Amino acid sequence: MSIENLARANVRELTPYQSARRLGGNGDVWLNANEYPIAPEFQLTAQTFNRYPECQPALVIERYADYAGVKKEQVLVSRGADEGIELLIRAFCEPGKDAILFCPPTYGMYAVSSETFGVERRTVATKQDWQLDLPAIADSLDNVKLIYVCSPNNPTGNLIDPNDLRTLLEMAKGKAIVAVDEAYIEFCPQASVAGWLSDYPHLAVLRTLSKAFALAGLRCGFTLGNEDLIALLLKVIAPYPLSTPVADIAAQALSTEGIRVMRQRVTEIAANRSWLQQALQNCACVEQVFTSDSNYLLVRFTASSNVFKTLWDQGIILRDQNKQPGLSGCLRITIGTRDECQRVVDALSALPGANKTRQEPM
Ligand SMILES: *Cc1c(COP(=O)(O)O)cnc(C)c1O
Repeated sequence: MSIENLARANVRELTPYQSARRLGGNGDVWLNANEYPIAPEFQLTAQTFNRYPECQPALVIERYADYAGVKKEQVLVSRGADEGIELLIRAFCEPGKDAILFCPPTYGMYAVSSETFGVERRTVATKQDWQLDLPAIADSLDNVKLIYVCSPNNPTGNLIDPNDLRTLLEMAKGKAIVAVDEAYIEFCPQASVAGWLSDYPHLAVLRTLSKAFALAGLRCGFTLGNEDLIALLLKVIAPYPLSTPVADIAAQALSTEGIRVMRQRVTEIAANRSWLQQALQNCACVEQVFTSDSNYLLVRFTASSNVFKTLWDQGIILRDQNKQPGLSGCLRITIGTRDECQRVVDALSALPGANKTRQEPM
């Protein structure tokens, strides 16, 4: 007898998140997970490994609150932003009854987390310009307890219009939590909605140390919200969500010096992004490079599966977005070092423009 039959039906049917690591590849240029290309160096200072860690390490909370410009009571720290996504579902959604809503094409974990918990996922595709389709959302809110909006959006790279976010928050008042996923906000800090917390008790903001802070391997993220919302999440979080080394290194990353270095990284990545965007526009196999406020570029190719495979074989690993609604022919390229960007351009320059038949002079 297979124990498969013992599993919950929704788990049997579940397709796990196809993380960049799970997808494998034998590359030496990893541009598929929006990581920072160089490992920062840290020394452990904590030694008390015989003791359980603090549930919400005070220094990490204090420093993140300072950095984000919110009160300590408005910060929850967790095992990556992905755990924040999950905690919101656990705190607000009744399985088999409530629904979450999100707007594809977007980040894949909202779907995976809701399926894991047996919570319905409702999708309202974005408009052609990847902005929110507010009338369609308004028509789809029955039983919706939680709305995820990713801004800048992964994988498209665009910011969601702040006026639309305001309208959405008004629409959801008294009905649903609006969770704004700001995993990439360090690349456009002026666009954060963290400053709106005092206006909206039902606003949550998701943050992470995985992207601009260069600490994807640390697994540390944050949820910002008003005290009542944070108190609910604290009810469902594990008793010791962060290990002692994680809290130790997170506190260092959030020191004045740590934040200065992070901002330096952002400047460097933004410069590489402009350079790569320019260079891609001159490649025959490139149809369109989309504007990005993040550390990746979404690019439409004339023959994307060939591009993906050719670069893969050269050890350059990109993220295929071709299956996402509206993104046929699109690959996502993380901004790496200038050398890595150059490797991408060199590989692409050798490729023909499949459908662009050049007009020969008469
Ligand atoms: C990377 C990413 C996350 C996950 O962050 P972790 O802190 O590494 O779990 C969440 N949301 C979006 C949009 C992301 O791209």
